[in-house]
Amino acid sequence: MVVVIGAGLAGLSAALTLQKAGREVRVVEASDRPGGRLTSDYVDGYRLDRGFQLINSGYPELKRLKIIEELDFQYAPRAVKVVMGKSSVELGDPRRYVVSAFNSQTGSITEKLAFIRYLASKPRVGESVESHLIRVGTGALYKRVLRKFLQGVFLSDPSQVSATVGKEIVRSFISGKPGLPAAGVAKFSEVLSHRIHQIEFNHRVDSLEEFAKEDVIVATDATNAAHLLGLSSIPTQLGSTTWYHSTSEPVSDSSMLHIDGEDRGALVNSIVISNLSSAYSPQGKSLISTTTLIPTSESEVRRHLSIIWGVPTGDWELVAKYDIPASLPLFGTDSQRVTSARVTKGVYVAGDYRCAPSQNGALLSGRLTAQELL
Ligand SMILES: Cc1cc2nc3c(=O)[nH]c(=O)nc-3n(C[C@H](O)[C@H](O)[C@H](O)COP(=O)(O)OP(=O)(O)OC[C@H]3O[C@@H](n4cnc5c(N)ncnc54)[C@H](O)[C@@H]3O)c2cc1C
Repeated sequence: MVVVIGAGLAGLSAALTLQKAGREVRVVEASDRPGGRLTSDYVDGYRLDRGFQLINSGYPELKRLKIIEELDFQYAPRAVKVVMGKSSVELGDPRRYVVSAFNSQTGSITEKLAFIRYLASKPRVGESVESHLIRVGTGALYKRVLRKFLQGVFLSDPSQVSATVGKEIVRSFISGKPGLPAAGVAKFSEVLSHRIHQIEFNHRVDSLEEFAKEDVIVATDATNAAHLLGLSSIPTQLGSTTWYHSTSEPVSDSSMLHIDGEDRGALVNSIVISNLSSAYSPQGKSLISTTTLIPTSESEVRRHLSIIWGVPTGDWELVAKYDIPASLPLFGTDSQRVTSARVTKGVYVAGDYRCAPSQNGALLSGRLTAQELL
């Protein structure tokens, strides 16, 4: 018997891999549901993901799981809307968004070609995502668009993130197919957890002594893993806040992520999430999901929202605010990646902070850990 502690993506992926190999597995989870950071609440007819995130259906680990077909997956446009002054420009794959590729407000053609070069170039040792992008010549494109967009991806400034880890994530975004299950991100975790034979909720593990006779995979977040394994240091955890506002007034019929191309406030991005899936809000209401990274007041969020959406926001209702202090681990250096998952005899560890700060990183870490144990 193998005990997997934690039913986040890493734990679920580890359990599935072991199950497939014929091992008996028991998953124990502290909360009342699977998914860890990938879950949703249902409040007064709204579906509120605990932190705005899109699921990239193009991630290799998602493809392996063959899960997208079961999710009523709603694909998001593969572009962002960059608000400049009072107008906006759509920026995405130049083959589909040909006009925006030539729009000089978001950077020159040379800078856009430099971005394509970036995707094929090799990061230097010790370089950050920011210095890599600037080195290849993305100039104004980086300053006006990419920096803000990437802050929303890494939940940190690109100058803090290792160029190697960063480029993998940027590449997967460019080639990916992001979207959401119609019923919210929790649907992903629920469908995955239904594949596991033995899973126990509301079971917080405080000590590994409980499972002294079994093989154990610790698939918790980094802080709980450090507690269970007696480790003294953990990677820096990056926080974020997701704000949910609703309104009956028209906002926009776009389901694109909006970012401000000028420095006019603290918002990293905003999206009318109910335009991506109407199940996110009651009929007649729009649900707007907005991300900030630094502590920000609600009045400041409303002020910046009215600039981004070009409509008054004074009457918008604040439906919920999620402060998530440990949203993502910071990958500041390449050496953070750990090759072996074995801690001591019979004890292994998995989680996004071991592999990459993403859904794919968590799933991959879980699968590799299980394979090492096997
Ligand atoms: C706001 C936000 C935005 C994001 N955006 C994206 C995105 O756009 N794209 C992307 O790819 N990724 C994104 N991510 C990252 C992605 O969600 C995570 O990388 C991934 O879900 C982490 O999975 P995990 O299994 O490693 O950890 P977790 O999800 O943290 O799972 C750990 C589990 O262990 C349980 N646990 C902890 N301690 C104990 C204990 N003592 N006993 C029992 N159980 C315990 C927890 O309850 C939890 O269920 C985002 C995350 C957040 C929060």
